[in-house]
Amino acid sequence: MVTTHNLGFPRMGMRRELKFALEAYWRAETDSAALLDCAQALRQRHWAWQDTLDWAPVGDFSLYDHMLDMSFTLGHLPQRAQGFGGDELEHYFRLARGQGRAACCGGAIAAAEMTKWFDTNYHYLVPEFDTQTRFELDDRRLRQQWGEALAQGVRGKPVLIGPVTYLWLGKMRGGGDRLQLLPALLEVYAELLKRLHAWGATWVQIDEPILVQDLDPDWQHAFNLAYHQLKNAPVQILLASYFGGLGDNRYLAANLPVAGLHIDAVRGRDEVSALLNLLPSTKVLSLGVIDGRNVWKTDLYAALGWLEPLAQRLQERLWIAPSCSLLHVPLDLDAEPNLDPSLRGWLSFARQKLQELHLLARALNHGRQSVADQLQLHQHGLIERAQSTRVHRSEVQAALRASNALPAHRPSPYAERARQQQAVLQLPQWPTTTIGSFPQTGAIRQARQRFKSGQIDAAAYEQAMRDEIALCVREQEALGLDVLVHGEAERNDMVEYFGEQLEGFAFTTQGWVQSYGSRCVKPPILYGDVQRRLPMTVHWSRYAQSLTHKPMKGMLTGPVTMLNWSFVRDDQPRELSCRQLALALRAEVLDLEQAGIAVIQIDEPALREGLPLKKADQAAYLDWAVACFGLSANGVRDTTQIHTHMCYAEFNDIIEHIARLDADVITIETARSALDLLEAFERYDYPNAIGPGVYDIHSPNQPEVERMVALLRSAAQRIAPERLWVNPDCGLKTRQWPEVRPALQRMVQAAQQLRQSS
Ligand code: GLN
Ligand code: ZN
Repeated sequence: MVTTHNLGFPRMGMRRELKFALEAYWRAETDSAALLDCAQALRQRHWAWQDTLDWAPVGDFSLYDHMLDMSFTLGHLPQRAQGFGGDELEHYFRLARGQGRAACCGGAIAAAEMTKWFDTNYHYLVPEFDTQTRFELDDRRLRQQWGEALAQGVRGKPVLIGPVTYLWLGKMRGGGDRLQLLPALLEVYAELLKRLHAWGATWVQIDEPILVQDLDPDWQHAFNLAYHQLKNAPVQILLASYFGGLGDNRYLAANLPVAGLHIDAVRGRDEVSALLNLLPSTKVLSLGVIDGRNVWKTDLYAALGWLEPLAQRLQERLWIAPSCSLLHVPLDLDAEPNLDPSLRGWLSFARQKLQELHLLARALNHGRQSVADQLQLHQHGLIERAQSTRVHRSEVQAALRASNALPAHRPSPYAERARQQQAVLQLPQWPTTTIGSFPQTGAIRQARQRFKSGQIDAAAYEQAMRDEIALCVREQEALGLDVLVHGEAERNDMVEYFGEQLEGFAFTTQGWVQSYGSRCVKPPILYGDVQRRLPMTVHWSRYAQSLTHKPMKGMLTGPVTMLNWSFVRDDQPRELSCRQLALALRAEVLDLEQAGIAVIQIDEPALREGLPLKKADQAAYLDWAVACFGLSANGVRDTTQIHTHMCYAEFNDIIEHIARLDADVITIETARSALDLLEAFERYDYPNAIGPGVYDIHSPNQPEVERMVALLRSAAQRIAPERLWVNPDCGLKTRQWPEVRPALQRMVQAAQQLRQSS
């Protein structure tokens, strides 16, 4: 008999109840009892939805973040978070967000740093260590959740972040080796496992996803140390890896003294047979056969064809599960009544994935005949998907083949282009610009709402957006900016806006996925060959340009970002989907150029997000990502200036690829000082123009002119001043006009000061 289990479940609830309960609590509109009740009700419901499983996860639920939960369980909080008044929740949110609820006791601190959870769009709170760090078990959260599960009759399997991954993901303040903390940390884990056993747990899932990354010998050794030390725990440990194959850590993982090993058998499928030969014959092997990172129905016949012989061989030792926690997919397809019916037949969200798992287990345990009808029904959509003309478009295939003949580069090198562009654009030294969006005001959102609900017609909406664009242009002229933008009023979201106009994309209404805390995103679903029906932005840009003599920048979302912020096809390589996006955008770029737009920005804020977890895979990704950007951008004349924008400050390891994008201008976010950031560009001798964000748009504080001047002067030590631009570090859509106006005024002043002194 195979055993089924799940590694984790979405937390927000069907109608994002957790989000709204959290936000009401933070605004001090409700009390902690209301929040905790909501959380408990969600856990109850979510376990009920998982009741076909042999083992359901307990402790995967979180009010904000599972890493932060683990920090509390390990009794380890940074010094600055200690000694405040308020209850447990207040402490928890103070560290998560910088302060607890509005107007509560205790005051504010710097929130814990937040960063991306592996290659997902989920963000966790980084544990902070120093040489003084001590750990002390606090089992209250787990005790509470375990008690609830027990009361509900759930066959529960507690879920913990493993000690090695916990240390790896944390940061040491003030230097020192965080592996030194491992022995003290292990004592707490040992104690915790004892406690879980005392409560009645038999299996405990310990997540060590860093097993899919490159580990140096010290970290490999840490695994040995940790699990040998936990070997005598009174529970059985299921060591869980996910988000990829084990690669070089295969031998290590197979031989750690634990009772079971879970692997990602979607991304790591190829290595399963080799692993089988390594695995001691007593160990449980859990295969994550259902894709926890994407939204497609599983091909159950194919899965069975593969699993049946394994089940024969492993017998009771075979477990099956989704590849990773279902946190990263939307909750329920049944919440999408408006989704195209044929598309629905191709998809599977968290709840459907558990049904698939159940079906697989029944077929394995009782034979395919026992569920023949359900299997056939299930496969129906898959067959349709494989043959659909909405997925496979011959015109797109033809265009893709023809695109191989397109030149990979701009006609002339940068220096020559820059000369020609300057002759057209006539920009001053230290040219000023913005990243694209201006405030998305209540009025803008309301107009869109009214248009979508049919209260105003297309013409009225169009006029409302034109008025916004005109206002935005007037503001920028008054401010004295050099290269203007239309302000992106017409865009709800930088990917959705384009996806809605392209063939091959679909959108859900409830397909939310947690990004951090109470924030969720609703990624589009890229299901088919991508095709541009009509120009997407040209009429807006042309209109905006008609209002000013200054250059108006056309504004597009790049192909790699479109890809990385969507659920994408699993029936062809990501690269191919990206090339299709690139071709569609190339047509848009050329239309903008044709319409007289001389500066075109292609945003790639998510280029880095697609970087594979294993070093060995990164170069190939960067190669095709750069090629796709080029495909969209490089068809223009030398006189057309291509900008790109990126939203992160880590360029050291990818600078050569950034250079290969060959954008005429790159504007970048500078979370840290511009100096640090530009070091990478200097060291590489980056040849093209750069706009280091001179002020942080995420902060409501007004930037100082002197600071911006100083920043640019120091930038000029590293990059030739004629290649420097002056701009904020990201789009302004989340800000208000009363903040934006004076901030940009100061930025323009800074540029003027520099011009006078140079
Ligand atoms: N052009 C976009 C904007 O200004 C860029 C957004 C981003 O960098 N994430 O909003
Ligand atoms: Zn940005």
